[in-house]
Amino acid sequence: MQTIGLIGGMSFESSAVYYRLINEMVRERLGGLSSAELVMHSVNFEEIVALQKAGNWDGAAARLGDAALRLQIAGARSVLICTNTMHLIADQVAARISVPLIHIIDETAASLKAAGRRRPLLLATRYTMEHGFYADRMKGLGVDIVVPDPADRTTVHDIIFNELCAGKVLDSSRQKLLQIIERERAKGADSIILGCTEICLILDPNRLSLPGFDTTEIHAKAAVDFALGHGSMAETVAA
Ligand code: GLU
Repeated sequence: MQTIGLIGGMSFESSAVYYRLINEMVRERLGGLSSAELVMHSVNFEEIVALQKAGNWDGAAARLGDAALRLQIAGARSVLICTNTMHLIADQVAARISVPLIHIIDETAASLKAAGRRRPLLLATRYTMEHGFYADRMKGLGVDIVVPDPADRTTVHDIIFNELCAGKVLDSSRQKLLQIIERERAKGADSIILGCTEICLILDPNRLSLPGFDTTEIHAKAAVDFALGHGSMAETVAA
């Protein structure tokens, strides 16, 4: 088993989910009391949020690039950025290391395509829904995403930062997310991307009115596939 490197802390609420999922998957596949070989570099999210708000993406890329390099030096044979949003600077982070960066968009696109979904609704931070990096990369991989209307985007963004990243899971917010899903389903969305690594804390991807694709789980599984020597979903689809 190869060592997995996780850049976490964005937020720690979702990093904890990654840690649990990766270990559960390794135990399930290898049996007994098997668990994952992994190293995590967890950042201070408050500092990353300040860089996001300032639009200082180069500063954020430098911080996460340093973290990726430290993981590689610590023995990681793959690196994951445990957030969708910070894939905005994934290419800059990948350029700092010589081990593969397992890309959350590529893995999610591969899962959508394998399931025959072509028009998913993206629920994510405003950065992810509006900056184009997610939609463009998905489009290049053959998937046309849709995003909610501006007011609904604000609602999703605020639920993520004011509640989920702060450890609050409110039923009233779950209802708002389900209403947004219904509005977009009526307009033709054929699936839902839980495109923020905390959304799985409030929505069960298997109990939605459309097929749900949880990026946290998809990304964690790709890391385990790679660490155990099986091709990830993105590698399999590309082959
Ligand atoms: N974890 C979230 C994501 O997947 C949001 C936190 C962040 O801004 O990185 O996008």
